[in-house]
Amino acid sequence: MTTTTEEFKTCTKCKTEFLIEEFYTRADRPGWHVPQCKYCTKAKVRETQETRRARVKEQYEAGTLEVIEEKWCRICDEVKPSSQFYMKWDSKDYLSHACKSCHKYDCKIRARIKKKKANA
Ligand SMILES: [Zn+2]
Ligand SMILES: [Zn+2]
Repeated sequence: MTTTTEEFKTCTKCKTEFLIEEFYTRADRPGWHVPQCKYCTKAKVRETQETRRARVKEQYEAGTLEVIEEKWCRICDEVKPSSQFYMKWDSKDYLSHACKSCHKYDCKIRARIKKKKANA
């Protein structure tokens, strides 16, 4: 990048002026920037996810949530009943990617990696 022109844009949400780089662009609209800054866009995404998670949880507690009966665990490569998986509200099928036993194993590996990094 050799361009030095600093362009500013005001976010329509927080009304703050930011450098143009702080705004997302869209692949289908070259040169166009979304009206809201990155921070407001991210906050909105988070809000949507939280709303969805809360709704899913509510349905689950009310017993009206439709959860698949079986799921393939990509770690042990086995199809197990959904009760063998932890709930994960923001995932597509509301279940964790790994079964409960693999989940423990997965966490252990992650903890070990973390420890290794901390010692390094
Ligand atoms: Zn903003
Ligand atoms: Zn598994």
